[in-house]
Amino acid sequence: MTAFRRKTKIRGRPMGPLDLNVIFDICNKSRAHGNHQKCSATRKAMAEERRAKENKS
Ligand SMILES: [Zn+2]
Repeated sequence: MTAFRRKTKIRGRPMGPLDLNVIFDICNKSRAHGNHQKCSATRKAMAEERRAKENKS
């Protein structure tokens, strides 16, 4: 199966996973669309939770 071997390239570089700058990982929607205040708060809470766990161990 070679049908999916072709990689999308931008300026000679393989395209990686979309950055968080473009897609909000909480709701998987473009940051340019809609209101993401809730997503932002959720994301912040997740980050703090993760940091708290790291501090424990
Ligand atoms: Zn969002």
